[in-house]
Amino acid sequence: MPLNPFNIPAAHHLIGGKWTAGRDTLEVRNPSDDTLLTTIARGTNDDINAAVSAAEDARQGEWARMTAVERGRVLSRIGQLVQEHIETLALIEAMDVGKPLTQARADAVALARYMEFYGGAADKVMGHTIPYLDGYTAYTLREPHGVTGHIIPWNYPMQIIGRSVGAALAMGNACVLKPAEDACLTALAFGAMALEAGLPDGALNIITGLGSQAGAALAEHPDIHHISFTGSVATGQIIQAAAAKNVIPVTLELGGKSPQLVFDDADLDRALPFLINAGIQNAGQTCSASSRILVQRSAYAEVVERMSLAYENLRVGPATADASLGPLISAKQKNVVENYLAQATDLTCAAIGKIDPNTPQGGHYVAPALFADVPSDHPLAQQEIFGPVQVIIPFETEEEAVEIANGTDFGLVAAIWTADGARQMRLAKHLRAGQVFINNYGAGGGVELPFGGVGKSGHGREKGFDALYGFSTLKTVAAWHG
Ligand code: ADP
Repeated sequence: MPLNPFNIPAAHHLIGGKWTAGRDTLEVRNPSDDTLLTTIARGTNDDINAAVSAAEDARQGEWARMTAVERGRVLSRIGQLVQEHIETLALIEAMDVGKPLTQARADAVALARYMEFYGGAADKVMGHTIPYLDGYTAYTLREPHGVTGHIIPWNYPMQIIGRSVGAALAMGNACVLKPAEDACLTALAFGAMALEAGLPDGALNIITGLGSQAGAALAEHPDIHHISFTGSVATGQIIQAAAAKNVIPVTLELGGKSPQLVFDDADLDRALPFLINAGIQNAGQTCSASSRILVQRSAYAEVVERMSLAYENLRVGPATADASLGPLISAKQKNVVENYLAQATDLTCAAIGKIDPNTPQGGHYVAPALFADVPSDHPLAQQEIFGPVQVIIPFETEEEAVEIANGTDFGLVAAIWTADGARQMRLAKHLRAGQVFINNYGAGGGVELPFGGVGKSGHGREKGFDALYGFSTLKTVAAWHG
């Protein structure tokens, strides 16, 4: 059966290196046609307690005794196994979350790359020696937090496991992962590959289930030492409040309303595919989706026309048909997006893509929609929609562009399209965002590039080498020797 090549028993958690049956179950449905795929376990407080306790044992047991280079080798082996199963993982993800196969494949490739990157980095994180008082030697030690909780969303399970669990394991933490209820299958497959690669029991525990139940139990657990969360602002606020109660550090990545600024000297042939793909990739269900396109008035008509033409050629279809866009993850998410579209009656719809007439019944399909001349304070230009909707906003001057770009609650990603080098440097400083791209967007996934936001986009950084600092703590040692 293609969905279970790792022989994981249905409706089981991974606790202490063993597949453990859940008491209750949840259905897993295919967003492309709403057919039942399998069931997952619905985790309880007891399951979370067991997972945290197994992680605690691991961090004091075999996992703790492994050297950094040995930890890195285990991660690299997981990465090799992921690499060997790219096609299978892509198919599982396509069927579980509705992602077109090409995009699902890219996620699996990124997961392998994260494990390779963090496998190689595990033994390269060092403390410092500090020039200090006469008769003393002072230095710092980088140490794992201990047990880390990872609550992740349904939009990019494999990539987010890679950047979050990968970095945490590299630093020697023992992890409890709670994947989203709508996207657990590749997370469980990752658990199976981690076991096969020789990750010690309890270093990675996976509890599936509802956010309000298993997620809340994990976030509130008094014996976790760090929590990393990617998801909505509302849930991020709950997680941060729970972390505050236990006084533990928290990394939050909460999405955005990321702009691309297009100046009239931009290379439009290069920019066009980025302007569109950054908005419609994964049907717009991307934290770093570029949902706002800001265009200088002198290039405005041309950009609107060219984007509109491209939109009319976009096709929506089932994930396995590998169309430009798949379905949305769920009926709930489709409803969210349709509610936004219902607020757009005062806007000019410049273009709309097409849903393939042969799409199966029951799928959660939404045609991508492009709106032009959108006032920058309109709800569609301010709020994260998490669907295939982009707005185009005109501007006259560089100052106005920056003001509009910075004029939302979010600050995750921004892109600048211009040939003017001085403007590139200026705007990179003035834009309120965790990542700024110059004449590109997303830079090929960016495993190596620190990622995270400002404002309501969250705080803390994942990806790249810097993430290793977030998943560790610093101890200072000062020795008097006379
Ligand atoms: P969405 O509403 O789009 O599913 P969320 O931010 O609610 O986005 O979900 C992201 C992750 O957070 C998922 O794994 C979900 O199960 C989890 N989650 C949701 N609510 C809570 C909560 N109250 N406490 C902890 N985790 C939660």
